[in-house]
Amino acid sequence: MAERIYLDWNATAPLRAGARAAALEAFGLCGNPSSVHAEVRAVRRRIEEARENVAALVGAEPRNVAFTSGGTEANMMALSPLMGTTPDSPPRDCLLMSAIEHPSVLAGGRFPPGAIETVPVTPEGRIDLAALERQLKGLAGKGLQRPLVSVMLANNETGVLQPVAQAAALAHAAGGLMHVDAVQACGRIACNINALQADLVTLSGHKIGAPKGVGALIKRDPGLHFSDPLIKGGGQERGARAGTENVAAIAGFGAAAALARSGLEEESARMAALRDRLEAGLAARMPTAIVFGANGERLPNTTLFAVPGIKAETAVIALELDGIAVSSGAACSSGKVQASHVLAAMGVGARLAQGAIRLSLGPTTSESEVDGFLDAWIRLSKALLRGADGIAA
Ligand code: PLP
Repeated sequence: MAERIYLDWNATAPLRAGARAAALEAFGLCGNPSSVHAEVRAVRRRIEEARENVAALVGAEPRNVAFTSGGTEANMMALSPLMGTTPDSPPRDCLLMSAIEHPSVLAGGRFPPGAIETVPVTPEGRIDLAALERQLKGLAGKGLQRPLVSVMLANNETGVLQPVAQAAALAHAAGGLMHVDAVQACGRIACNINALQADLVTLSGHKIGAPKGVGALIKRDPGLHFSDPLIKGGGQERGARAGTENVAAIAGFGAAAALARSGLEEESARMAALRDRLEAGLAARMPTAIVFGANGERLPNTTLFAVPGIKAETAVIALELDGIAVSSGAACSSGKVQASHVLAAMGVGARLAQGAIRLSLGPTTSESEVDGFLDAWIRLSKALLRGADGIAA
């Protein structure tokens, strides 16, 4: 059987060998990290080494990293009216987020629905900074003055990079806090919490080759209080998240973070070259293909495209049967295809959006895999277009 081609790294990345080794080694360690026995030292050391490596990936201080069960939990933890407050300070009174955030942000965390505003994006898929500024200025008129602003660093469907530092400057000028979901960007492009001026950054392990089910919420300022933990009880993670730590997953996350950091420039450049080869091949062999967000700055590994007349649902299945794993732009966790809120926010028509296919590459993707995809796509898409003559208009 021919080798499969995996082009769905934004969904999850294969486990890095170093992360597997670190997790397996940690599995073998006894000792509850919160106990005082001699066994505990080794376990604690694995967690603290991981904390250092994860912190280094975003230029943060290790003590500012709180491990979670993943990006979803970290987003949920960040989006609280009590984030960063003390018993004497009033809660945050509104949440502003871009219209293209991941569902784990769009759900609004613990803000009541009436306290949430979305900020539009441009047709290129970048948050509209003028609209953000207007909305922030408009808060005072509604008696609101303590916003939390959440903008992702890179969109998971299009890969389009967001002007986070500018958004943070606007948020801070309005007396707000800035949260950045860097799940897709971190480990693929340089990501520094200070340069981004982010108060809070969310990471997810499995997007950078760590085991699934581990992530982190990271703060810039040690004085910012994680005052509203989602999981209360013991004092683990400096009170930010109770419960005995998932030591093996955390150790794997630390190892993956160190590997992603040390190979960042090289991996990033390699992926960008492959992405360009892919898009040049598409343009040359199928000129009707439209790449979304192509004119803006994007992640080096992501291409979201559609060919008028081809539905993503059928294309993804045809590619799967051919041994190629990709996503429809609108894939959701239940496996059902839903309309993409990202493309809708960019003003892409529903019919074209239904055809959006996401290709996402990783550090081990090869030229022959890219070429293999292109050959398969040209063959399959021609058949799909013939079969779909009726809807090709
Ligand atoms: N944020 C973004 C931008 C994502 O793409 C994802 C996962 O796809 C998440 C958050 C959720 O991360 P996790 O799968 O670790 O819960």
